[in-house]
Amino acid sequence: MGGGQLGLMMIEAAHKIGLSVTVFADSRSCPAFKICDDFIESSFTDMDTLSKFREQCDVFTVETENIHKDFLRIIEKRKNLFPSSNVIEISQNRLVEKNFLNSLKNIETTRFFEVNNIKDLKDSAKNLNYNCILKTQEFGYDGKGQSTVKKENLCQFENQILQNCIIEEKVNFKLEISVIVARNSSNMIVYPPVKNIHKESILRETIFPVKIDNHLKQSAIEKAIYISENLDLNGVLAVEMFITNDDQILINELAPRPHNSGHWTQNGCTVDQFEQHIRAIAGWNLGNGERHCDVIMENLIGDEINKTNDLIADGSVSLHLYGKVDIKPGRKMGHFNRIIK
Ligand code: AMP
Repeated sequence: MGGGQLGLMMIEAAHKIGLSVTVFADSRSCPAFKICDDFIESSFTDMDTLSKFREQCDVFTVETENIHKDFLRIIEKRKNLFPSSNVIEISQNRLVEKNFLNSLKNIETTRFFEVNNIKDLKDSAKNLNYNCILKTQEFGYDGKGQSTVKKENLCQFENQILQNCIIEEKVNFKLEISVIVARNSSNMIVYPPVKNIHKESILRETIFPVKIDNHLKQSAIEKAIYISENLDLNGVLAVEMFITNDDQILINELAPRPHNSGHWTQNGCTVDQFEQHIRAIAGWNLGNGERHCDVIMENLIGDEINKTNDLIADGSVSLHLYGKVDIKPGRKMGHFNRIIK
């Protein structure tokens, strides 16, 4: 379900191991349309079309967590949906996700409060010393639906609808990392931590490996495994983390699917995150996730896609373009992996 670039790359992985893919998405002008075996163009509220779709496939998965809960539950009633609706529902709501994470032993997030009106906002912003970010609980990605809240700009929220929001303490982090776990009922592999560099809340660059102390690295891996076990994960899970100045690990976000910070595995590992996801949900053994070279992944965002000719001339990069026609600021158009050694 979903037809974006993650869907496109999942289909490439499925084809590589001989499986066919039907995509359910709301528009044909999406990256996955061109290479899928079948395409169902429909809104995610059309339950009749959903029933037809449900009959057509053996295993179901998502390339985005933003698929309506009712839709997921209907599929799961009769067929295998991996990861489960429970896992997807946790990750599609920031408040539910943070409550889940904080219920686990030794797993911490930044401080946060639920916000439903201006009074909640004022009280919680004060509590967080006006060092905070307001986010929608659902449907936010790449910084969309997020605003910095300060004492000086509080009045600008007076006339805004503030229902179903969350306010988080701004973390003064020294590093952002992520760990990707692939798991099913019979096996599990972990891709070690990578360093992630964001600009304006959008991932720009991922560097493998991250240079951190071994104990921090092990602790990050253990936390990601522990979270995936508690979710009874089937598929791939990306765990985004902040490392604070005093070396505390705070979990920022979960993504129960292949993730932008795992694109380096396409050129750095024998079996990449997309193939692991497909193997996991198809009930296959997972592949060897060991790295065979170091990689720096860079996203091509908006008109950076125009750098393509230079990148083609550079023999040390592998290009991955998503075939999106409209160039828009902030839109992920492709990425490239630079092999380091
Ligand atoms: P998110 O969509 O919540 O993952 O936010 C995207 C990016 O915004 C993160 O990767 C961080 O770079 C930044 N960000 C989000 N929340 C916080 C926070 N509470 N403190 C500091 N930076 C944050």
